[in-house]
Amino acid sequence: MSDLYCVFGNPISHSKSPLIHTAFAAQCGQDLRYEALLAPIDGFAASVRTFIAAGGRGANVTVPFKEEAFRLATRLSVRAELAAAVNSLRFDGAEIVGDNTDGAGLLRDLRVNLACPIAGRRVLLLGAGGAARGVVAPLLEQRPATLVIANRNVARAQQLAQRFAATAGASLLCAGGYPELAGQSFDLVVNATSASLAGALPPLPVAAGVFAPASLAYDMMYGKGDTPFLAFARAQGAARLADGLGMLVEQAAEAFHFWRGLRPDSALVIAALRARSETGPAG
Ligand code: NDP
Repeated sequence: MSDLYCVFGNPISHSKSPLIHTAFAAQCGQDLRYEALLAPIDGFAASVRTFIAAGGRGANVTVPFKEEAFRLATRLSVRAELAAAVNSLRFDGAEIVGDNTDGAGLLRDLRVNLACPIAGRRVLLLGAGGAARGVVAPLLEQRPATLVIANRNVARAQQLAQRFAATAGASLLCAGGYPELAGQSFDLVVNATSASLAGALPPLPVAAGVFAPASLAYDMMYGKGDTPFLAFARAQGAARLADGLGMLVEQAAEAFHFWRGLRPDSALVIAALRARSETGPAG
């Protein structure tokens, strides 16, 4: 019988994870079945336990259950502990092991797929939710000159910066609201808000300057064509644009390794997904 994996979310029908993990399994000769499971908003833990009872070996966790998954895990990786959010679970006997592969996924997409250096650069992170929390430590590990976290709810951004203050090293780590970005320029701007999901743009200052001339604008959201953030970045002069499809596949590759101990060729799967749906910005 095939080993059983799934992704829990709500909503979940849009998820590309079954496609990605099925492709990884075929590539690596692994006999596994992976499905998307809708967990009720108030029934995540019960859904996980039912899945384990049915023989589930591991699961991905997406919006809005990453913090609940963190609380449910009986053992955590260091990066999951730091992020206080879990996007990958492995069921080892009685243990529920939690990991967070979002940060590693973003970093690999930036550094390997997009050849975007971070050391010594000015980085702006928009948002202070679960996705932002997972990427602060991996971004700081690259020693950017500055990492600025901007969020609508300013207190949330400040709490996030405080949480990672001890790991900032020589990088200047600060947090604030959107109006404070006026007059500042960045080499890399990562949109980790969920604004694009609603077809909205984070309230960035309209006066040009946030995107430095050679900057990369990165939206964690993916889909056909430019998101509102990428369209704005293009109009504001960002040199390069990228959506979050690469991050999605790379965090999945990390999760696959966490479960099976094998690293699939993520570039092949990214190319196949782009060809299949013609997703992503042209720039
Ligand atoms: P959360 O719900 O935890 O956080 C949402 C964040 O977005 C908050 O900071 C919130 O600000 C902000 N926000 C929402 N709407 C707006 C708006 N209109 N303008 C400005 N800020 C806004 O979500 P996640 O952090 O889990 O996910 C964020 C995004 O990242 C989603 O689009 C998700 O799909 C994507 N993602 C992509 C991944 C990938 O692999 N490509 C992996 C993980 C996430 P406030 O605190 O002020 O409410």
